[in-house]
Amino acid sequence: MEPTIFDLILNKEIPADIVFENDDVLGFKDVNPQAPIHVLFIPKVRIATHNDLDASNIDYMSKIHLAINEYAAQIGEAANGYRIVMNCNENGQQTVFHIHMHFLAGRKMEWPPG
Ligand code: 5GP
Repeated sequence: MEPTIFDLILNKEIPADIVFENDDVLGFKDVNPQAPIHVLFIPKVRIATHNDLDASNIDYMSKIHLAINEYAAQIGEAANGYRIVMNCNENGQQTVFHIHMHFLAGRKMEWPPG
C-alpha cells in the first residue's frame, strides 16, 4: 500500500497539531476544519478503509472510540456532544486512505447530513 499523508504525520515527518496520543491512536487537528473543533483520530497501523476492518484489526476501532471519549472529556465537550464520522471510498468522499474518524464539536451539527 502506498503511504499516505497520515503516515508522514504518524512518523513525524511532516508537522501536525497533535492533540491526543497513546500507544495505538493519534489525534490531530484537521487542516480544513468543518467545525470549531475538528480532530482526526487514526490508528497507528495502516488500515486503508472501513472495508479493510476485520477480526485482526477491529480492536483499533474500540481504541479510537475510547480515545475520543477521553479527549471529549478532557476538552469539556462530552456533555455538549459532538459528531463522529468516517468516510469510505468514493461515495463516502474519503480522500485519505488511512482509516480515520472525524471528531467534530463546538457547534450544533446539521441533520440530515448532505
Ligand atoms: P476524508 O475526506 O478522507 O474523510 O478526510 C481527510 C481529511 O484529512 C480532510 O478533512 C482533510 O482536510 C484532512 N487532511 C488532508 N491532508 C491533511 C494534512 O496534511 N494535515 C492535516 N492535519 N489534515 C489533513
